[in-house]
Amino acid sequence: MLKVKNLNVSYGAIHAIHDVSLEVNEGEIVSLIGANGAGKTTTLSTITGLKKAASGEVTLDGQNLLAMPAPKIVGLGLAHVPEGRRIFAEMTVAENLEMGAYTRRERAEVQQSIEDVYGRFPRLKERYRQVAGTLSGGEQQMLAIGRALMSRPKILLMDEPSMGLSPLLVKEIFAIIGEVNASGVTVLLVEQNAKMALSIANRAYVLETGRVVMEGDAKELMGNSEIKKAYLGA
Ligand code: ATP
Repeated sequence: MLKVKNLNVSYGAIHAIHDVSLEVNEGEIVSLIGANGAGKTTTLSTITGLKKAASGEVTLDGQNLLAMPAPKIVGLGLAHVPEGRRIFAEMTVAENLEMGAYTRRERAEVQQSIEDVYGRFPRLKERYRQVAGTLSGGEQQMLAIGRALMSRPKILLMDEPSMGLSPLLVKEIFAIIGEVNASGVTVLLVEQNAKMALSIANRAYVLETGRVVMEGDAKELMGNSEIKKAYLGA
């Protein structure tokens, strides 16, 4: 479904991403793990068109995403839940969800999607008129996920959904990711929380200083002694 091939990305003289290749197949949850500064966010931002690639290929169902404007990428069925959530703090919960449907025209269908999101996140329904900036961290993450679902994506790219959340909320958010995936949405997940990321994923890639250094079945990676030492605190 999503294919990244020999991707290179630079920030001026800093070569942040080196020949990164990865694939996400339909129905999968694929995790991209790595330490601070490994290049996880840069990889996602390049896939979603927020950052320009120096070279390489990114395709979704065979269509070239590089050089495609972001709304068109959303229209193809790719949605991004950015790092730090980036909700519209001054707007209400309901308005934030509406914003997630900006590429869609059919009002009745958009309304149905809002109801679907409220069905999945009752806490958002209770707070639909609340200004989003006053939501708790976990609620803001739910809103960011809900907003991304409003574009009816085939594939959801999530950047550090566990960031800043308590262990209990991390569990809740990961359960939601599992449910979203079970409902038919493919997921590419970027995480520093390697334990959670590997436990939920089918496959994973390990990024170190901008390079893929390991990849494979998530359960096998969890059992790998190097991964245990470097990422799972064993
Ligand atoms: P984190 O988990 O801390 O967010 P990450 O794995 O997502 O890390 P990136 O944010 O992609 O890593 O950063 C990869 C490299 O690119 C780092 O060396 C970082 O300093 C550098 N970098 C990221 N954004 C910029 C920028 N806007 N300008 C210059 N360098 C940048």
